[in-house]
Amino acid sequence: MRIDLHTHSTASDGTVRPEQLVLDAVVAGLDVIGLTDHDTTAGWRPAIEALPPGLTLVPGAELSCFWTPESGWPISLHLLAYLFDPAEPAFAAERAMVRASRLSRAEEMVGMLVADGAPITWPGVLAIADGAPVGRPHIAQALVAAGVVRDVPDAFRSEWLGARYHVPKRDIEVLEALRLVSGAGGVTVLAHPKASKRGRVIDDDVFTELAGAGLIGVEVDHPDHDAYERASLAVLAADLGLLPLGSSDFHGTNKTVRLGEHTTRPEVYEELVSRATGASPVSSPDQWPLRLRHH
Ligand code: AMP
Ligand code: ZN
Ligand code: FE
Ligand code: FE
Repeated sequence: MRIDLHTHSTASDGTVRPEQLVLDAVVAGLDVIGLTDHDTTAGWRPAIEALPPGLTLVPGAELSCFWTPESGWPISLHLLAYLFDPAEPAFAAERAMVRASRLSRAEEMVGMLVADGAPITWPGVLAIADGAPVGRPHIAQALVAAGVVRDVPDAFRSEWLGARYHVPKRDIEVLEALRLVSGAGGVTVLAHPKASKRGRVIDDDVFTELAGAGLIGVEVDHPDHDAYERASLAVLAADLGLLPLGSSDFHGTNKTVRLGEHTTRPEVYEELVSRATGASPVSSPDQWPLRLRHH
């Protein structure tokens, strides 16, 4: 069984439509795919309705969070949420709030770029996002189309969206996020938690705190982890009883990683599914609308 539980579609900032992503998953030799668009479940329905025979979809989302140390600045964390009830009101309201915040901060970033002469427009960026929660990759695509940068990764250099024109968005406090997801029957996994190339990462004692607050797993194999980071995460996961996952974080042509380039072991996947009480993995298009388990 080949299992990749972290992917993005055009419902957020990937370049492959959800209905195409499930077909590409079969071509990539996957049996199970997790759809984890940023802050939205909008891709669940089109992915499920297009689900090919033999493929199982694990509905999910990725949430940008922060953890605040006793002294110092907050550290950014990405939390993957799986198999939650998308209609549970408290978590649904939080996702809507984060999406609204994405819109205003993206408009602000575009305004700064335009003021400095970049030949892009806010309506143009909105057209690229096409209804998805706007992310920096959409602005990056506008910069590529305008010939300002070579490609999307190039737009993430510090001169552009990496720092100079980066406006923070409203992230969720991580303990609050853990509560919201579990309140909706879902389970949580820390995405790329030791990816030092993305910025500051949490110390090992924070993993202990999060495991105590309901976190069930961590991504070990991820394109942004080097060999040392993977090895130390494997030890940490074993010590804390956290599930060790491997995932691609596929974003289509916005990143270079291939679908299924990293995978999660079947026994880890089975354990993750058994811990959720919201939705079940979906293996056929007639399972939409989702049957929700009682929680
Ligand atoms: P945002 O959520 O709007 O702050 O944008 C962050 C998104 O941009 C993340 O989901 C990443 O997948 C993507 N991203 C971050 N760094 C890079 C990079 N160097 N190249 C391409 N995509 C990136
Ligand atoms: Zn993304
Ligand atoms: Fe992430
Ligand atoms: Fe991601």
